[in-house]
Amino acid sequence: MVEDGIKPDGVTFISLLSGCSHVRMVNEGKIFFNRMRSDFGLNPTLEHYACLVDMFGRAGRIEEALEIVKKMPLKPSGSVRGSLLNSCRLYGHISLAEAIAKLLFEIEPTNPGNYVMLSNIYANAAMWDKVNLVREEMEKRGLKTEAGCSWVQIKDRVQSFVAGGGFEFRNSNEFKRTWDELMGKMEESGYRADTGVVLHDIDEEMKVEWVCGHSERLSTVFALVHTGSGLPIRVTKNLRVCADCHSWMKYVSEVSRRKIILRDTNRFHHFDQGKCSCNDYW
Ligand SMILES: [Zn+2]
Ligand SMILES: [Zn+2]
Repeated sequence: MVEDGIKPDGVTFISLLSGCSHVRMVNEGKIFFNRMRSDFGLNPTLEHYACLVDMFGRAGRIEEALEIVKKMPLKPSGSVRGSLLNSCRLYGHISLAEAIAKLLFEIEPTNPGNYVMLSNIYANAAMWDKVNLVREEMEKRGLKTEAGCSWVQIKDRVQSFVAGGGFEFRNSNEFKRTWDELMGKMEESGYRADTGVVLHDIDEEMKVEWVCGHSERLSTVFALVHTGSGLPIRVTKNLRVCADCHSWMKYVSEVSRRKIILRDTNRFHHFDQGKCSCNDYW
């Protein structure tokens, strides 16, 4: 852009910084952030700071991310602190997560996303008493989480599934045949369900059953049943994909030899031959 004489604006830098964040180019991102003001006379806004904090936090450099939040000239918004909380989730920093969540609950008392994030952090550490406390707090405040839902288009028809639903399809022979064949091949390839993403203190077998009912899996199997071999599968989801579904999709792309493009609330994931374009970093 600059070589062609086009002046980048604030939006250009948001794209650039979030791009750097997703591919772990922290040092380059920091240089771009500094160049905003020095080379282009643009003052970073809260969105730019949120990208910067996210970039350091995702790369595991949480101390530096915290320093940025402390020193930034603007009052840190919910999204800046939310980025920090997400980094704590990625790296399992529980006491820091608790401190950040406390602040977030003060500035955004009705945002269920923050409660769910904290509850996820506790669940990953098997701290079920704390998970229950967060859930109770949500109930007290009348906050509800959005149900997981995904869509897949087959020719001119859109099929949607909610998490734990789709029983008509799940009880069909074509589903059972495809699912069993898929799981057999995937387990041979080394896939094991990661049940840490399930937020309830229930036994392992139940947890496997729960993650298997995540809507993007139902959409994917639906597409496998209803489209010819070799055709790519495109799934859209209303929430962020969980770690186990992400791993599941990679195996499906390998054993079914299909490309799967999953769009979640954060980004596009292109699964192909057992790998994802995000390099497991999302
Ligand atoms: Zn999932
Ligand atoms: Zn991915």
